[in-house]
Amino acid sequence: MTKNVGQQKRVLVTGGAGFLGSHLCERLIADGCEVLCVDNFFTGRRSNVAHLLDHPSFELQRHDITFPLFVEVDEIYNLACPASPVHYQYDPVQTTKTSVHGAINMLGLAKRVRAKILQASTSEVYGDPQVHPQTEDYWGHVNPVGPRSCYDEGKRCAETLFFDYHRQHAVRIKVIRIFNTYGPRMHPNDGRVVSNFIVQALLGRPITIYGDGSQTRSFCYYSDLLDGMVRMMSTSDAITGPVNLGNPFEFTIRQLAEKIIDLTGSRARIEYKPLPANDPRQRKPDISQAIATLGWVPSTQLEQGLISTIAYFDGMLRDAPEAPFAEASVA
Ligand code: NAD
Ligand code: UDP
Repeated sequence: MTKNVGQQKRVLVTGGAGFLGSHLCERLIADGCEVLCVDNFFTGRRSNVAHLLDHPSFELQRHDITFPLFVEVDEIYNLACPASPVHYQYDPVQTTKTSVHGAINMLGLAKRVRAKILQASTSEVYGDPQVHPQTEDYWGHVNPVGPRSCYDEGKRCAETLFFDYHRQHAVRIKVIRIFNTYGPRMHPNDGRVVSNFIVQALLGRPITIYGDGSQTRSFCYYSDLLDGMVRMMSTSDAITGPVNLGNPFEFTIRQLAEKIIDLTGSRARIEYKPLPANDPRQRKPDISQAIATLGWVPSTQLEQGLISTIAYFDGMLRDAPEAPFAEASVA
């Protein structure tokens, strides 16, 4: 992709064939941008963007962001990184490389072509938080040597790099901290709680609650999240973040299981399994900054978002009932 002055805005989306990335590519094309989607297909799928392949404003490139990329763009959304604990713990060294080397490569690109760059950071930078709800000025409570550290510390280091490129090289940065987001196009074997519970409920398999299910999460529907992400990118250069993006309604994992059983009408039973190491006890974003700076509040209630997501997985299971939807779980 080369830059043409006066034409469409050219936007690079790394991790663009993943769950959030593919929806983002779609949204940016609808907004009139030219989109370059880059992905190494570790957790992303070509099928997520298959419907965009013939679009004149869309280009797909297989590339691993741990290697340098030479393209000409105006904006970069850096989403490349496995997000599910099962996937990011599969090859932890590659996970850290993706966050750290990937950030260096994408920031280097942003510096060279003077592009604005947004980092998809995470609520995991707060670790197992001792401040509740989590505000952006909380520095977090993260184990640097545990099984989740490749992701948590990788994302923390990426944030450091973003702010150092900003201070040292005047790169225009935007950092968002995404809290658990779900919706259609999550991988059925992804291992994250919403997709696991829905697939289990639809297949009539036991719903696997890790621990006693009293740990909490706050679930944001993907379309709300994308809206916040795009708003953040369009803020003035003075706004760097980090800004929390998530839905502040908090649920226990047991409540989530019960809601999904109810909405699917499933007869699946609940099965309790051991809690994975360093699993955060509670998580809920304070979104005051997003409200003040972006005028953003999520509008999709959990039940509404779950109904759409259940319909998506239901369609997928009907189309491929023989597919081996294996149980994915962390050790
Ligand atoms: P996902 O796994 O569906 O998407 C990640 C994409 O990145 C995949 O397409 C994958 O193939 C690609 N990728 C991974 N390593 C790569 C590499 N080295 N080079 C190029 N591509 C690579 O996950 P998602 O939920 O869509 O998450 C997208 C981003 O948002 C991630 O950075 C994640 O950390 C962040 N995030 C997501 C959530 C959430 O709840 N969905 C929460 C916090 C942060
Ligand atoms: N979880 C669960 N059963 C599952 C998958 C996850 O009970 O089949 C729990 C997990 O232990 C965690 C919460 O659900 O407490 C959210 O897990 P997820 O992997 O979706 O994201 P996390 O917020 O931990 O990164």
